[in-house]
Amino acid sequence: MSNPLLSRWDTPFEIAPFNSISDDDFAPALEQALAAHAAQIDTIANSSEAPGFANVIEALETPCRELEQVLGVFFTVAGADSNPKREELQRAFSPRLAAHFSAITANKALYARVKAVWDQRDVLDLTQEQQRVLMLTHRGFVRGGAALEGEADTRMQQIKGRLATLGTEFTQNLLADERSWFMELTEEDLEGLPEFVISAARAAGQEMGKDGPVVTLSRSLITPFLQFSPRRDLRETAFNAWAARGAGGGETDNRAIAAETLQLREERARLLGYKNFAAYKLETEMARTPDAVRGLLMDVWGPAKARADEDAKVLTAMMQADGINGDLEPWDWRYYAGKRRKAEHDLDEAALKPYLQLDRMIEAVFACANRLFGLEFAPLDVPLYHPDCRAWAVTRNGAHVAVFIGDYFARGSKRSGAWCSAMRQQAKFPQVQAPVVINVCNFAKGDPALLSWDDARTLFHEFGHALHQMLSDVTYESISGTSVARDFVELPSQLYEHWLEVPEVLQEFATHAETGEPMPQEMLEKVLGAANFDMGFQTVEYVASALVDLAFHDGPAPSDPMAKQAEVLAELGMPRAIIMRHATPHFAHVFAGDGYSSGYYSYMWSEVMDADAFAAFEEAGGAFDAERAKALEAHILSTGGSVDPAELYTAFRGRLPGVEALLQGRGLTAQ
Ligand SMILES: [Zn+2]
Repeated sequence: MSNPLLSRWDTPFEIAPFNSISDDDFAPALEQALAAHAAQIDTIANSSEAPGFANVIEALETPCRELEQVLGVFFTVAGADSNPKREELQRAFSPRLAAHFSAITANKALYARVKAVWDQRDVLDLTQEQQRVLMLTHRGFVRGGAALEGEADTRMQQIKGRLATLGTEFTQNLLADERSWFMELTEEDLEGLPEFVISAARAAGQEMGKDGPVVTLSRSLITPFLQFSPRRDLRETAFNAWAARGAGGGETDNRAIAAETLQLREERARLLGYKNFAAYKLETEMARTPDAVRGLLMDVWGPAKARADEDAKVLTAMMQADGINGDLEPWDWRYYAGKRRKAEHDLDEAALKPYLQLDRMIEAVFACANRLFGLEFAPLDVPLYHPDCRAWAVTRNGAHVAVFIGDYFARGSKRSGAWCSAMRQQAKFPQVQAPVVINVCNFAKGDPALLSWDDARTLFHEFGHALHQMLSDVTYESISGTSVARDFVELPSQLYEHWLEVPEVLQEFATHAETGEPMPQEMLEKVLGAANFDMGFQTVEYVASALVDLAFHDGPAPSDPMAKQAEVLAELGMPRAIIMRHATPHFAHVFAGDGYSSGYYSYMWSEVMDADAFAAFEEAGGAFDAERAKALEAHILSTGGSVDPAELYTAFRGRLPGVEALLQGRGLTAQ
């Protein structure tokens, strides 16, 4: 019998035939698919025809059907519905896939043909999208080191290997430090802590074989402990241990690893012809240059610091009213901010939940997409990988657009968090292919299932990513949907979150599970007010980290990163009671791998854009302004990576994003 992962899928909308796939099919299917893809690459690399756009770039763009089918199904079930067998397969597949794809980038014959096409680009008469795909393909090879030869090539391989090792060591040291520290608590020490913190501390003690409760450095325990414990001495001890992760001296100290990592990154960038690592990293981002990143962060820094300084005064007064004199310290901030939040924004989560029924919120998500983009959703009865999954056929004016799958409930077999992925991406080459898009969340089951406010935001967020995939309208798959710069990819998702806050949406869909009454206006205002609470603190700790990350990579690598960090913070005038959200020895975003190195700014970059983009709707006449919706689809949701993101944004907004809407949204404007 043939392997169902490799055969052509004769199913509605060619959705994977989940009910006929067994776990034993994955390994042999992957081997055959990789062989098929390797053969495809070989044919392109070793062709005797003269290199041109069609036989090199388009040939690379031609999807390997077998490989896409196997990977699409496997990664869907491995993330959302795993089991021991699938975990074992994943461990075996990861290095296999990494080797397969890095062999393609390192293929010298293939690179020679890509370069030959790149060198002819001015005389090839390519469409704008073709020029972009050619540029991105060529750039991908060059950035991967394909153009290096001889000693430089050897050195690059050494650097890559060493950086991978350093990243792993950094992570392991951090985990070791987080696991080894604990503080035992007496029954007396528990006074004033809420029940959930006490039971978490008892559970942690039991797990460590202690007689009584303990505080550990697990974020879910230390953060509420710092927020709720009235014992200043205990808060100080716990805070100092938390802040010293990765810098304790001894074998798990990360400071030397950070220094060596920065040196090697700089050398790597220079080998590739860049002035420094930030220039190399930002080349592919919307921000483009370190100056653009710094400019944006500094625009936010001033108002955020001003707000934090004001808040520090309020918190200091609260502390003094408790009979404690002297300065507010970092271990005091969360405690007094928590007290202040309770006084100013007492939000009852339990009273809010009945207004946020999952099914009604899904209706809200679809209704907004209908009003904005004319999309319609019809339930689809097809076998999927788990009975909790639901599917819809998405159409517009009767024409098929996509299949959308929602897998909303938490279960043991699903990894944590929420995400959007495409089991098939939109493309028109070599033939039209409609996307199959899936949203995976971890909401609690119930009858009816009820969401927290954060859950509801997650629902809208992931659907924003789904819209970016479903409305994609490009020719080539490599630039389809969410295949865009990292500092651009969260724009559609974070932007869509704004529609949850539109009063008429809540009025219609946030109805009480028992009474059917819409959410009271007063409750909505409390929710929104609580979401903005302590934004001075949160913005300061984040922006300081982002600026240190940038300073590390924009210029010669510092031989002593800790000294550099201190220098940056001193220049900024960091408030004394706030520390970096992630200090260097435990800044995993930057040192556990390359992902967010000189890229930690991108969370705020996206937030600036989503606030600014939603303001465009408000300025035009409301959240459902038809012209704006049309522009959003034309310039952002349909275009994937086919155009430079700064150009796309400018086409939508008439200018580049400004920080005003973000400052207003975070409550950081002068009052
Ligand atoms: Zn996202």
